[in-house]
Amino acid sequence: MRLFQELEFLIDDNKNQSNIKLLSAMVETDSISHAYLFSGNSTDQLYKLALSFAASINCTEGGCGTCEICRGSMKGINSNILVVESEGNILRIEEVTALQRFMGMSAYGPGRKICIIREAELMNSEAANRLLKTLEDPPDERSVFILLSEDTSVILPTIMSRCLVYSWNFEFEDSKTKQAEFKILEKYLDEGLKRILAANEINHDTLDLSLRILEILRKMEAGLRSSLEMELEKVDSRNYIKEDLKKYHSILKSKHKRKLAKFKKLGISKVFDIISAWLEDIITVRLGVNQENLNFKNNYTFIKNKIRNVRIKKIIKLLEAIEGNRAYLGYSINPELALDNIFLSIDRLILER
Ligand SMILES: [Zn+2]
Repeated sequence: MRLFQELEFLIDDNKNQSNIKLLSAMVETDSISHAYLFSGNSTDQLYKLALSFAASINCTEGGCGTCEICRGSMKGINSNILVVESEGNILRIEEVTALQRFMGMSAYGPGRKICIIREAELMNSEAANRLLKTLEDPPDERSVFILLSEDTSVILPTIMSRCLVYSWNFEFEDSKTKQAEFKILEKYLDEGLKRILAANEINHDTLDLSLRILEILRKMEAGLRSSLEMELEKVDSRNYIKEDLKKYHSILKSKHKRKLAKFKKLGISKVFDIISAWLEDIITVRLGVNQENLNFKNNYTFIKNKIRNVRIKKIIKLLEAIEGNRAYLGYSINPELALDNIFLSIDRLILER
């Protein structure tokens, strides 16, 4: 199934790999289940994923990516595919009724009828109960439902239990500003590390560096927070029924909370990535590997000339410590402390060499 192997936005990790293996096997053996729930942090990427799964199901070659069915399906334009999307911010019973009508008709050609429901968490209870009935008693053997959700905690457990649930890890969606901000962070960190590593004695900048880096991260986080707040205000200014508004508010708020938590984790994790890459480069140069194989090729001369006597064993120990700290990022580790510790350890490398 070629289409499924070309999803560039999927992180190359065990969970995604095993999901792809399982779904590919279902397509190859034509043992497609009638309901799936895909969850992950980005509706748009879940949607792309659902479309390529749909294309793979209906393509006679299991998702060649080039035939008419594949090409149409990838755009969501195919007579056997219906995409259900909320109008506004609540998915109502009208949409589910339309879906039932579509699924009640027989499939065009040899394919299956596939219904993709975007943002399934937006269903109100009436719509959810109607969908549940359809899932319990699907209109025909060859119908497939693919529900997509960023927040499965608000989906009816009875609906969840009718679906094969797959959760996915996507690359964090970097907006242009965020990418630019990360570039600044990277540059700052690079310069700071050079200062520490080039010094001949313990460096008093060390703690200042972690403070400044956290400051940059906090600024980025504040930017994200205010854009999320604007989203809430926009919702408030629309004319919704009070009950709908309340529900939508709580959905948005939990979504925002998740986004912020994720950003925090990602920010500090990027800082760790950069430091690790730096340390790996030191080892690489010390082992005599050429410039082309460095993470940061521009640092070759610096490392070669300035960092002479650091023991590889120590750097490996430090890399292990960083990975250890990273493992705790999921819990509420204090990022300030973690960074301080790492910079201080790098500083100590200099003292002890
Ligand atoms: Zn095809």
